[in-house]
Amino acid sequence: MIDPALLPTLFLAHGSPMLALEGGAWGEAVSALGRRLPPLRGILVCSAHWEAADPFRLSSAEVPGVMHDFGGFPEALYTLDYPAPGAPDLATEAASLLRAAGLTAELDAQRPLDHGAWVPLRYLAPAANVPVVQLSLPRPRTPQLLLAAGRALAPLRQSGVLLLGSGGVVHNLRRLDWQDASGPQPWALAFQAWVRERLAAGDVAGLMDWRKAPGATECVPTSEHLDPLFVALGAAEAVPEPVYEGWQLGSLSLESYQFA
Ligand code: ZN
Repeated sequence: MIDPALLPTLFLAHGSPMLALEGGAWGEAVSALGRRLPPLRGILVCSAHWEAADPFRLSSAEVPGVMHDFGGFPEALYTLDYPAPGAPDLATEAASLLRAAGLTAELDAQRPLDHGAWVPLRYLAPAANVPVVQLSLPRPRTPQLLLAAGRALAPLRQSGVLLLGSGGVVHNLRRLDWQDASGPQPWALAFQAWVRERLAAGDVAGLMDWRKAPGATECVPTSEHLDPLFVALGAAEAVPEPVYEGWQLGSLSLESYQFA
């Protein structure tokens, strides 16, 4: 069982939305992690799929509901739900922590859960009875800003709140190998290895400079799937343990981490 007095933070890759139907080994790993979690007060998710103009926003609906924010997938995917309650009190507390750190934050009582949140949560917390709040990725943003947000939110780890970043270290939809024949691309492996090495070395400053890493241009054509990693890292600043290592379609990394 994970220590409820100081919860870890997580970075979970969510790959293709099809993982909601066919979780495979990734789903088994995330489910196993979920079974080790103590009872939680709430889950605060920073998803790749909520980018919004500055400031940071926190979803604060009592009943958030879900969005099926993807196109062109089998009908079964659009029937899936994740009926977790919201937590306006937790959203308010998180906004206060961000403001106390000199960051800007406001509540959004309309925002439903996007698939970056509910796809992994269907495995991590399948009963859907833990309240969920989402944190947006502001535009514009830097890795340093997201690290600062994670640091500001770190006290929540001591009050039963699990911080979850949901995205992907490597996520390039234009370079998908639909036959999934040749495994991950060399540039994908190079960038992921670089991230892994920097995390293992505790080289936070180096990670902030990820654009200089080998393969960065191909692996991170836009930063929204990598960025939740910096929130999870900022809230724990520990060398992570692997939750899962794997790939989808050659250019989607499913590598997932548990910090602390
Ligand atoms: Zn995504």
